[in-house]
Parts: sequence; structure tokens; C-alpha cells
Amino acid sequence: MGLNECTLVELTEKLRIGEITTSDIIRDIESAITQDEGNKYPLNAYTSFDIESIEKEIKSQNKKEDTLLKGVPIAIKDIINVMDTPTTCGSGILKDYISPYDATAIKNLRKNGGVPAGKLNMDEFAMGSSNENSYFGVVRNPHDRKKIPGGSSGGAAAAVSANLAVAALASDTGGSIRQPASMCGIFGIKPTYGRVSRFGLIAYASSFDQIGPITNTVMDGAILLDAVSGYDPKDSTSANEKVPCFRDFVGKGLGGLRIGIPEEYFGEGLNSEVRDIVERGIKILSEANASVKRIALKYTRYAIACYYIIATAEASSNLARFDGIRYGTRFVDTEDLETLYRENRNIGFGDEVKRRILLGTFALSSGYYDAYYLKAQRARTLIREDFKEAFREVDIIVTPVSPIAAWDIGELIDDPLQMYLSDVYTVPVNLAGLPAASVPCGKTKDRLPVGVQLIADHFNEADIFRVARIIEEGEKGAE
Ligand code: GLN
Repeated sequence: MGLNECTLVELTEKLRIGEITTSDIIRDIESAITQDEGNKYPLNAYTSFDIESIEKEIKSQNKKEDTLLKGVPIAIKDIINVMDTPTTCGSGILKDYISPYDATAIKNLRKNGGVPAGKLNMDEFAMGSSNENSYFGVVRNPHDRKKIPGGSSGGAAAAVSANLAVAALASDTGGSIRQPASMCGIFGIKPTYGRVSRFGLIAYASSFDQIGPITNTVMDGAILLDAVSGYDPKDSTSANEKVPCFRDFVGKGLGGLRIGIPEEYFGEGLNSEVRDIVERGIKILSEANASVKRIALKYTRYAIACYYIIATAEASSNLARFDGIRYGTRFVDTEDLETLYRENRNIGFGDEVKRRILLGTFALSSGYYDAYYLKAQRARTLIREDFKEAFREVDIIVTPVSPIAAWDIGELIDDPLQMYLSDVYTVPVNLAGLPAASVPCGKTKDRLPVGVQLIADHFNEADIFRVARIIEEGEKGAE
């Protein structure tokens, strides 16, 4: 077994006793990547994996203290700044951008002995649910290479699932950690908004974006979240909340935990195989002595409309900085400022990003602001209150992650509305700023993985880890 196939728990132990070095792990990862590149349909999970700079990283790693990650290489979604590495956001406009600094999450990772190793492919500026919107090409699903891996963190999920990375840090604005984790059969958690600093995470929709881990096991996810969480004065939305030790909660048992099942998440549009798998997950929990009750989240039906108005509005403003002057490749040089903006943005951005900038600009334009943006903000408050009420009665809400398993590459690319609708179960969580994870729970008859979503109240990731571990164990038993 290659070191690229080991868990973080196994690797940190081997590193601790001196049986292996970080370079040994990198060597095995590199050979797995090279082997994959020889495939007829390579996964295309990385935008860059530069051995020379990784070796430099290894030399500068924190070797003095006995750290949590002890030199384990972690692959990074290409929207998080890692000093002196390319950070492209999967976009043509940033194809030549080299980060001059580390995101706070990366600083925390290094402090805990993690070594950033390679940047992962993604939908351009994290806009997408299929990883077909990258300037660097589509990413494939390792379980069936004709299928999408999910998005926007498709590179992260494909790499971890195929052991081309041992673990990854990604970002989730409306489901981008959970949905690809579900489709690639691995674990992914989006922490509470404010739990992990957004400083150095290139903004898509600032009031939703969160960094979180994508890993092969629940315990690995807890370790990685332990390493990167915490208050950061550089991010004004960072939460000054105590961070519990998440790994202490993995394997802690359920002890009377209350599980809520919202009927709105099991209605029309949910594929029956996906429903069966999620129901099996619920059964595992009730057999582990959790109490299960039906709940209502009555404003769920407004979530997609609300999300796609607010997220595009924020994106249209955030992406204004990519103008070929301060940021972004200058494809066309001219004295005429307006032409300079227009041409560089026209060449630099892909179709989906342009569509969202147009949508967002429209929603914010005078005359429409009240009708769209303001109304969406009001709906957001209702959705948040819906959850608040539910969490008076239950500790964890269990739902599907996506209404369908991975679809064929190209199947939905010309039908953006259908693609947006596939986010129906993940975006409410971001609208409310809650933590939520996807845990593998079974496979369809076509052997495509399906995850179950676990949602907790603000800053209660601990209960997610308790429940996730029970499902992980139960699922293994069923294989
Ligand atoms: N699919 C959603 C979108 O395109 C969510 C993406 C994300 O979480 N970054 O906006």
C-alpha cells in the first residue's frame, strides 16, 4: 500500500516515530498522479503540483515542536492563497497570478505542521456544481470517469477519493465541499460561518464562503479542522468563539442525541435511490439510540432563488477587482480605460462567471434592488429563523446532500437552471451560516457514491463529528 493511501492518523504516527519522511509521502503522491495522467481519461484534479516548490515547503516546515500534523502534505483548492504558489481560482484571468502571502488557514496549517502541497482544480471562482467551468478543463469522477465529480471543489474531492492527495482544504459557498464529497464517496465538512478565517480565501460571495476539509475519514476531517480553526483579527467576520478539540468527539457515541428529519428535503425531485440511501443512514442512527423526529423547515422552497440572488450580487461586486490593472492578466493593452476593462474581463472570464456578474449587477441595479436583493435578504432571515426554531427541538438535522448522484459530463451544462436546482439541499445551510457535513452512506446500483448531510446549530460541529462517525462505522458494516 502506498503512503498516498494512508489516513492522516496513520501518516502522522509514521512520521512521529521516524519511519517515513514527508518526502516519502510526496513521492508516492507524485507517482499516483503520474499514473493517473497515463489514463485515457485523467482526473485532471490539480492545477499545479510543482515538486521543486513542494520540496522547498518541506525544508521550511515546522519541525521544532511536536505538531498535530507532523509534516503531512495537504493539497489546497486553488482559491486559497499559498505564498509563492500560483492561485488561479480556475480562471483565465488569474492564470499567471502568484500569491504574495499565505491565507490565515494556511498559516494555521503550517503552525500545526501541515505542508501545503499542490493546488486543486475547481469551477472558475467556485461557481458551479459540476467542475465543468474551469479554465483548466473538466475534472472527472474517479468512480466513473464519464461522470462529473461535483463542484466547485471537484479537484479536491477527486484527488482525495483517488488517493492523489491524502487530504485537502477546500471552500464551500453553497455546497462546494459537501456536494463533491458526496459524489466522490468521501467526507467533507463546511464549518460554521466565522469558524475558519476567510483572510486569503479569494472571495466569491463573502457572506457565505467558508474554508473546510475534504478527507477520506471522519477522524481525518476532525484533525484538519482542529488545525485550521480559530479567531483571526484579519477577518472581521471571524468568530471569537472557543474552538473545542473536534477529534475528541469522533467515536464519542450518540448518548440520546435528537435527530430531526425535515420533510421539505424528501419531496419531489429527490431520486429514489438517493432517498433509500439517506433513509438507511437515518436507520443507522436510530439503531445507535438517537431519537428521530420529523420537523418542518417551511421556507426551504425559497432557498435557491434567495441564494442565487444574494450570491451573484456579492460576486458581481467582489469580481470587480479583476480588471487587468490591479489584479488579473492584461490580455489587451490600450490607452482607453473602458476598452481595457471590457476586453480583459471579456477574455479573462468564462461564460458562467459572466452570467453571474450580469445576474448580480441586475439584482443590485436601482429600481430592482428592493424587488430582488432586499426581498432575498428578508427570505434569508426567515430561512435562518426556520433553522433556529428547529434546533430548539433537535441537535442534528439529517438530509440528502444532492437530489441526484453524479451525472454525465456535459449533461446539464446547457441548462444552468437545472444545475442551480441541484443545490437545493446545500444552499439553505450557507444562507443560515450553519455547519454541515457530507458523510458517505452507500452507493447507487451504478456504484455511484451518495452522502448524507448532517446539519448542526451554529458552532456545534462537535455533534456533527459524533454522528458522522456512527454513520461511517455503520456504512462500513453494510459493505
Ligand atoms: N453550486 C453553488 C454555486 O455555484 C455553490 C458553489 C460553492 O459552494 N462554491 O454557487
